[in-house]
Amino acid sequence: MHYVIIGNSAAGVFAAEALRGLDSSGKITMISEENNRPYSRCLTSYYIGEEIDQDRIYIRDANFYAATGIDFIPQKVEQVNDTEKSITLQSGEIVGYDKLLIATGASPYSLPVEGLDLEGVCELRTLEDARRIMDFAPHVKEAVVMGAGLVGLKGAHALHELGIKVSIIVNSRIMSRSVDPHTGQIITELLEQDGYEVIYNTKLSKILGQDKVEGVCLSSGKEIPCQLVLMAAGVSPNVDLVKNTGIEVNKGIIVDKHMQTTVSHIYAAGDVAEAYHAVWDEKRVISIWPVATAQGTVAGSNMAGVERIYEGSVGSNSAVFCGVGVVSAGIPYLPTGEGQELSTYDKATKRYRKFIVKDDILVGMIMVGDIDGAGILTAMIKQKTKVSLDTLNYWLNHPVRFQGYCTAEAKGGIVCGIC
Ligand SMILES: Cc1cc2nc3c(=O)[nH]c(=O)nc-3n(C[C@H](O)[C@H](O)[C@H](O)COP(=O)(O)OP(=O)(O)OC[C@H]3O[C@@H](n4cnc5c(N)ncnc54)[C@H](O)[C@@H]3O)c2cc1C
Repeated sequence: MHYVIIGNSAAGVFAAEALRGLDSSGKITMISEENNRPYSRCLTSYYIGEEIDQDRIYIRDANFYAATGIDFIPQKVEQVNDTEKSITLQSGEIVGYDKLLIATGASPYSLPVEGLDLEGVCELRTLEDARRIMDFAPHVKEAVVMGAGLVGLKGAHALHELGIKVSIIVNSRIMSRSVDPHTGQIITELLEQDGYEVIYNTKLSKILGQDKVEGVCLSSGKEIPCQLVLMAAGVSPNVDLVKNTGIEVNKGIIVDKHMQTTVSHIYAAGDVAEAYHAVWDEKRVISIWPVATAQGTVAGSNMAGVERIYEGSVGSNSAVFCGVGVVSAGIPYLPTGEGQELSTYDKATKRYRKFIVKDDILVGMIMVGDIDGAGILTAMIKQKTKVSLDTLNYWLNHPVRFQGYCTAEAKGGIVCGIC
């Protein structure tokens, strides 16, 4: 049996290890356009900000491929040929397979603005991107970050750590996919307290400069001088290589609960896959590391012939802004008229807690400041645990007792009263 895995990051590595654990003799070939051993994208911003050194970035030893008996090909895959059971590499070489995993992740969106080719315009997806930013940073006093999702904010933090003045351009809202407008406002206040400039309701019109970045012009007409622009306006799944195949693609590659695509010998996992979302009860792309590793493990197991079901994820995020923890899981807010939202906020301490409930089921939560019990709440969301509004109201204001209660009750799967 020859297994081919395209991608050597979270989904690809976890799939390869699941496969090798279940099939010690099958041939595994891993292909990546990045010629690195596996590393964590999540840590690249801390590397830029000199909070960790390069060794901490890697998630596997230098002898990973040899130790697991994996052949590694550092090349881009141009095309999947599903009917021939082969793939075409950038070099033109064709590699055959029996089972294929597509774990190609996602790439940053490219906004159609003038000046993208100027020196000093950066993205932050790969380790190479991080190194480019690090090489450039000593010449930078002011930077503009275009986008306020997780990557934009982590990139902004890294540049701020290097003593660079950072302006963040927010087109709609801060972390709009994972938190509500109120949490976005709290994060904005924290960032401003720490010296960031946060500019709302505007778009990037043009990047200014001759050969190098000298500034940006916004749709409001405002000009901001800067020497570095970090483009972080979101990502889209890397699906180009499956065009003209029988693989169904929506935003990402559609997979079932085995991580199998619409072509039965081809699987997909991670940021490239559109898989079951346990709260929305539909298929969605969820671009976070733990989802990629879980999906990779499920895909690898099924490819080896040992059935494993992907139960779906809830989508969760955690971050610390200026010393204040922010955790969210599930749906951050509901359309008006659907379900209930309960919240409590203390302006002085910035402690904010919100529960989102539909049909007596907790479908989302946000915690700012005091994040005790976040793990249990996330488990309740995933398990669709029944919980009454009275109980949730009590928990909003009694986090300590809440912790003890949840730990005891969540094991039973049903939470329905107040301790
Ligand atoms: C700066 C940054 C910070 C992040 N921080 C967090 C965080 O704090 N928490 C969190 O949960 N998530 C975070 N994420 C998201 C997380 O890193 C991703 O969800 C995760 O890496 C997805 O893993 P993946 O294996 O699906 O894809 P990727 O990590 O994108 O890997 C894709 C792999 O496929 C290869 N590839 C792509 N196309 C081809 C091709 N055509 N041919 C050959 N190889 C190809 C790539 O080289 C790579 O090896 C962050 C992401 C970034 C960029």
